[in-house]
Amino acid sequence: MSNHHRPEPESYASMRARALEALLVEKGIITTDSIDAVVQAYEDDIGPRNGARVVARAWVDPQFKARLLADGRAAVAELGLASGQGAELLVVENTADTHNLIVCTLCSCYPAGLLGLPPKWYKDFAYRSRAVIEPRSVLSEFGTELPDQVQVRVWDSTAELRYMVLPERPAGTDGLSEDELVELVSRDSMIGVVKVPSPAGAA
Ligand code: FE
Repeated sequence: MSNHHRPEPESYASMRARALEALLVEKGIITTDSIDAVVQAYEDDIGPRNGARVVARAWVDPQFKARLLADGRAAVAELGLASGQGAELLVVENTADTHNLIVCTLCSCYPAGLLGLPPKWYKDFAYRSRAVIEPRSVLSEFGTELPDQVQVRVWDSTAELRYMVLPERPAGTDGLSEDELVELVSRDSMIGVVKVPSPAGAA
C-alpha cells in the first residue's frame, strides 16, 4: 500500500473553526445540535449528490464512463466537480466479477468534493484496519454478501490519490432518467460497502 502517505495535520482553518464553534456555543448563540444538523446535511445530501451525478452520468453515457475510468479527475471536471484538495481521482468499477472497496488506512482521505464529509465509521480504526484484513467480513456487516467467485479489491486512499467506486447499475432501471438514477445512488455505494439496490417494485 502507499508508503508516501502522511497524516494530514489539522489545518489553521480547522483549528479556527473549532475555536469559533466553541465560542458560539459558550455564548449560547448556537448549539452543538444545530452544528451537527449542518454536518448531517453535508453527509446525507450535499456531498454525496455530486458523486451520484457522476455515477448516473456514467450509467447513461458509455463514452463518459470510459473517460471517467481513464482519468477521473478530468471527467468529473466536465461536470464542474473535483475530488477535493487537488488530489488525483481513480474511479474503480464494480462489476459482476469484481467488487471494490475504498478505505484510508492511515487517516481519513476521501473524495470529499464528490461524497461530502466522510462518515464517522470511515475514520474509525476498526474500519481502517479491518477493511484491508477482512474486507468480506466488513462488507457482510453492511449487509453485502458476495459470492466467493467475486473478487474483492481494497483501495487505500492517500492525500494525493482519492478513490471512488462506480457501483453496478441495478436491474430494473432501464426506463429511468438520469435524474431518477441520481436518486438511487447512495454515499455508501460509492465507498463500496453496499451495492445500489434495484428500485422498489422493479423486476
Ligand atoms: Fe488519509
